[in-house]
Amino acid sequence: MAKTKPLPCPFCGGTKLELLHRDWGWWFVCKKCDALGPCVKGKDEMVAKWNRRVEAKHNPTGDKIAQAVFTKYKKGAVGNGN
Ligand SMILES: [Zn+2]
Repeated sequence: MAKTKPLPCPFCGGTKLELLHRDWGWWFVCKKCDALGPCVKGKDEMVAKWNRRVEAKHNPTGDKIAQAVFTKYKKGAVGNGN
């Protein structure tokens, strides 16, 4: 049986994922940013779901936020000199 490996965290890119198991299912916790993976009954299905989430999150909104803050800062700085 080939094991599916979980991809890095979609939020911080961390690879330290802790696999948690309770009666109601399995899920991942990112040790770096505390992001929680989807809770799924089957272990293999959980890895597949996590990986699909990583793909969906491939374009991080963090970049957009950082860019918006930078643009705001730049506007303020330029505005004063005008
Ligand atoms: Zn993370």
